[in-house]
Formats: sequence, structure tokens, C-alpha cells
Amino acid sequence: MILKNEREQIAAYGRKMIDNGLVKGTGGNLSIINRGEGLVAISPAGMDYFDIDPEDVVIVNLSRGIIDSGNKPSSEIDMHLMLYEKREDISSVIHTHSICTSSISCLRVGIPPVHYLIGFAGKDVRCAEYATYGTKELAVNVCRAMEGRKAALLANHGLVAGADTLKQAFDIAEIVEYCAEIYIKIRSIGDPVLIGEEEMKTVIEKFKNY
Ligand SMILES: [Zn+2]
Repeated sequence: MILKNEREQIAAYGRKMIDNGLVKGTGGNLSIINRGEGLVAISPAGMDYFDIDPEDVVIVNLSRGIIDSGNKPSSEIDMHLMLYEKREDISSVIHTHSICTSSISCLRVGIPPVHYLIGFAGKDVRCAEYATYGTKELAVNVCRAMEGRKAALLANHGLVAGADTLKQAFDIAEIVEYCAEIYIKIRSIGDPVLIGEEEMKTVIEKFKNY
């Protein structure tokens, strides 16, 4: 089976997305690129995460051609492939519909540095301009919003995170959801004091050796 290790990770982390409340039902998607092989392992479209076994994971090449699987790749495949094309530092992408990030995305604003942990995603998290789900336009908007960042909100939709490994991308998705929850709660009692740009640079530098 090609990309066995990547397929196993996709199957395992798909279940973890449900268990940790990052998505409901068949929402969201995740992928890993194997740059050596020039292939991407991506979750199949519309399949219950608890039914996805390694052999159900779809393998595609960088031109979107299906290499191995009877299943259809996730509807957000263009977003995943475009991130791999544009970002050498990203080898794994996770897209969630978690409640707090999705809620803020409906205001079409990002998450400012209210809590230092946002530094795992960047100095802040932007919100990508709205486009219909599953379109190239959305992929372009997401790549733009993620410049210099490892996560972005998708307007009226959810969150995307990318990192070197699937574990890191998953952790960033959870951290940004945590910061989003904090931000919503703060805004209900007052205006937060934001962390300054210089201090965020210090935090991000410290995280590099974390
Ligand atoms: Zn989505």
C-alpha cells in the first residue's frame, strides 16, 4: 500500500478531530504531502471519520490526479494542494469547523494576539475573504490569509492550519480554537489588552525551541 504511514495518520487524526470536538459529522478534512514521492494523502469526501480506514484515504498527485482509491477526495482538495505548492514549510494541512473559530469567522475578522499561545500560529490569525467552499477562489484567499502564519479563519466557515507534521497542524488547530474561545469570552466582559508586536516576536522565537 503506497503512503501507508500517511494513510494511517489521516485515519487516526480524523477520529481525533471528532473526539476533540474540532468537527462534527463528515465536516472538515486533513492531508499530508510526501514531497519525496510527489503525492498527497487526503481524507475522502463525505465519509464518517470512524469508517475511514487507511485504505479509504485518497492518494492524489500534485495535479489533482487520483493515484489510488475508489473514493472521491475531500471537496477542499484545491486548498490543500495550493498550500503545498506555495508553502515549503507546510507538509500537513487540517481544516476544521470548530465552534469558536467558526463563530468569529462569521464576523469576518481575525483573532488578535489576546493570548500568547496564538504565537504557535503566528503574530495573529487573519480571516480569509469569503468564497464558496471547495473552490479555487477559496484556496487563493486562504493562501493569502496564511502568509507568514500557520493558520487562518475561513469567512463564515471555519479554520485551516498547516505545519510540518500532522500532529503539529492538529495542535495548532486546537490552540487557535482555544484562543478563539478566550477571545469570545473576553469580548463579553470587556476589551482585551493585546500583546504588542515586539513581545509576540519574542514569544514566537521562544516557541521555536519549545
Ligand atoms: Zn469546511
